[in-house]
Amino acid sequence: MIIIDRYLVHGAYTVLFLVLGVFSLKVFLNPGHCVGLDSGAGGYGITEAETAFKIACKVRDYLQAVNYDVYLFQFDGLEEIVTESNLWRSDLFVSIHCNALDGTVRGTETFYCGSYDGERLANCIQNQILAKLPTVNRGVKDKNFYVIKYTDCPAVLVETAFIDNVDDNALLVEREDDFARAIALGITDYVKAYAS
Ligand SMILES: [Zn+2]
Repeated sequence: MIIIDRYLVHGAYTVLFLVLGVFSLKVFLNPGHCVGLDSGAGGYGITEAETAFKIACKVRDYLQAVNYDVYLFQFDGLEEIVTESNLWRSDLFVSIHCNALDGTVRGTETFYCGSYDGERLANCIQNQILAKLPTVNRGVKDKNFYVIKYTDCPAVLVETAFIDNVDDNALLVEREDDFARAIALGITDYVKAYAS
């Protein structure tokens, strides 16, 4: 497995590469918040930080199984997350969260920030989640969340489900593996369609 050359251009995703064997793409996974420091949202006995971490670990395992290079990083400082991703020179950045509002709202939404490739990646992930889970489609949206605004590569933030809604909470508990598979497949869909 030898990657001879690769260039990343901010804003537009340009990869020039010559590959002998398997191309190993670098995916930065950021489960939102931080277990032990910032639990994020919560509901029905589970926290966002723990749930996102568990899903991200499974996404990592699925991606590593198909030879992706994965860096899983959970931290309570947004600047540090961005710095870590940019220093590692990630090809793709995916932040995983759970939503919360007032208990009545449910569904999945995926955010990108002003980038065409980010939008494509967001659509790939959102479509896989909709295909695999009985969730509500809240859409793909452009929003300037810090971690997807300042990362150098195509970046998305996935709000998997509403942790404070009883139906969505059950999905997060019982279908954690399906969320992970869907996110991993969304990433590989994007790579196959647009980055390889
Ligand atoms: Zn969050």
